[in-house]
Amino acid sequence: MEKELFSAALGIAEPICIDKIAFDRNKGELHIYMSFRLGGRFPCSECAEADLPVHDTVDKTWRHLNFWQYKTYIHMRTPRTICPKCGIRLWVPPWGREQSGFTMLFEAFVMALAKEMPISQIGELVGEHDTRIWRIVSFHVKQAHAKKSCADVANIGCDETSSRKGHNYVTVFADMDSGETIFATKGKDSGTIKAFAEELPKHDAQPEQIKEVAIDMSPAFISGVGEHFPEASITFDKFHVIQALNKALDEVRRMEQKQNPLLTSTRYIWLKNPENLTAKQKKQLETLRHENMKTAKVYQMKLTFQDIYRIQEPEAANEAIKKWLSWAARSRIEPVKRFGKMVKEHYAGIMRYFISRLTTGKMEGINSRIQEIKRRARGFRNIDNFITMIYLETAGLELELPT
Ligand SMILES: [Zn+2]
Repeated sequence: MEKELFSAALGIAEPICIDKIAFDRNKGELHIYMSFRLGGRFPCSECAEADLPVHDTVDKTWRHLNFWQYKTYIHMRTPRTICPKCGIRLWVPPWGREQSGFTMLFEAFVMALAKEMPISQIGELVGEHDTRIWRIVSFHVKQAHAKKSCADVANIGCDETSSRKGHNYVTVFADMDSGETIFATKGKDSGTIKAFAEELPKHDAQPEQIKEVAIDMSPAFISGVGEHFPEASITFDKFHVIQALNKALDEVRRMEQKQNPLLTSTRYIWLKNPENLTAKQKKQLETLRHENMKTAKVYQMKLTFQDIYRIQEPEAANEAIKKWLSWAARSRIEPVKRFGKMVKEHYAGIMRYFISRLTTGKMEGINSRIQEIKRRARGFRNIDNFITMIYLETAGLELELPT
């Protein structure tokens, strides 16, 4: 009766059968011993040739989902078949995969939890060391990522992120249409672009099909794209351009603050977008703007530059930026002049925005999910695990697991 019940629960069928079921009430463990009918025949695990005779057996154990509060283990004298083509092969049972000490259902349970809680916590919950849990997660993520197709990808965004302690960088490449991560790799140099170009053929894609790439103005990314993506136009994303202008603005404020105490503790008022200010901050900003200050002037220049990004027509935007640049050159404010020079040096990529319309919105979406992973993780043990979580959370993977 007990054997029939467990056979049904585990979905096992001829020629496999349950030999013995043992409850260890002290340890809280349930051990299910499987066997197979004498003369039973099995398929080859390599070529799927059916009905092969058994050569010998090897004892194997899999951790399964708990039955009630019992940690459950399946043991089996696992047959090795002799195949005319492949020779001797260990049979892989329907409940497990080779090289894993866990059943597929147990792994599916772990993968479901991995999206919700830190791996260390899953380890505690199921009573396994977290390196074993990481091994399960990384196996299924790698398998699903290897099957991800990039056949239709044409527009890419690329950005760097750092692991929790901030020393190790990871560069993330995303499909700007689907908003899904395609590839993530260690480092933030031009080698990451090369690695991405080499990865694409593994996903039914070629570097030549990439037409638009959004990056920040890092020289490493610029040269990497030039070298490895011959058909791609570079767009310097608007977020990074405005960020550089904000940096110039802040530099001016810090210099001016030395002579003008009114500017003390006003940093965020100048850097935030006006619509995000509180009523009190808005009032303070209005007062400050009526003072004859360089900071207020540069602030006005920033708002004007942001307005240019709202222009639809590329030619009109081109005219507006040129006008803005001559304004900057005449400003006699050093940080602004430097920003203007930088714009000139990256002119094509900045103007490309008005044609490609690539914005980092989707990239920022991915980034905020990566921040969330970092907050949750309390450490990854290594950077490969960090990359695994980036894929699991942001690559839209289709995991092949029983439900
Ligand atoms: Zn075979």
